[in-house]
Amino acid sequence: MGINTIRRVWALDAPSLTVDCGILLLGTGGIDETIPSPAFLIEHDEGLLLFDTGLASDGAGDPAAAYGEMASAFRIEFPEAYRLDRQIESLGYKTIDVKRIVLSHMHFDHTGGLDLFPHAQGFIGAGELRYARTPSNLDAAFFREADITAAARIDWSEVPAGYDHDLFGDGSVVLLSLHGHTPGTIGLKLRLPDDSTLILTSDAAHKKASIAQTTGMPFDVDRLNKVSSLQKIKLLTTQPGTTVWISHDPEDWAQLRASGMEITSADGLRPHNPTPELAR
Ligand SMILES: [Zn+2]
Repeated sequence: MGINTIRRVWALDAPSLTVDCGILLLGTGGIDETIPSPAFLIEHDEGLLLFDTGLASDGAGDPAAAYGEMASAFRIEFPEAYRLDRQIESLGYKTIDVKRIVLSHMHFDHTGGLDLFPHAQGFIGAGELRYARTPSNLDAAFFREADITAAARIDWSEVPAGYDHDLFGDGSVVLLSLHGHTPGTIGLKLRLPDDSTLILTSDAAHKKASIAQTTGMPFDVDRLNKVSSLQKIKLLTTQPGTTVWISHDPEDWAQLRASGMEITSADGLRPHNPTPELAR
């Protein structure tokens, strides 16, 4: 068998949230930051795959309609044109064409579009669905009832903590166990058509500095495993041709999406692994 890759990947236009930096990275409070809340659409020989689902379509143009007080608490910006279903259609597909959903975790900014894909085969980290129904008081505010209901209609396979799953058995899409932020946080490792490797961390990391310093954020449910997951990401970046994309990092968004919605190569864009000055 030759080396297989995915065909195409799109970082869809993303609604944004505005939050205090201190909620993204321990010890950095006091400055507001506007962060994207993305979903990634991936085309493979076996069909379309979606990584995370962004925000709920009924909140497009009117975030309070879907999110109530959370819309102003998180200062959600969600233009009508950024609806997930509309974007999928504008790429020439229908939502029914999305055969698989990989959900990084159950926090509301990743689960909003789940109601569009009851037909899809779902992949999620072990323990995540149960935790979303019975979270601790600390992070109960990050789960939305409507998304938990939508998730219940999907047939999920759970990825055990500590296990990485090769989705198609061809090495092109690997689900990475990155638990710690939530009990079942997972990321994605993609082999792009030019053979470069793109790692989508979702919220296993929130900022570039999270990885460099292996520092978590205040709402991590399990700090020890969160740090271990950050170490795992840092280690993966040492593999040649590998780029890491942190979902909520606005700098990654600007750099990796600089040439548009379709991501054709991750090579040459290595914001997390700059070439060090050689000592003489
Ligand atoms: Zn998030």
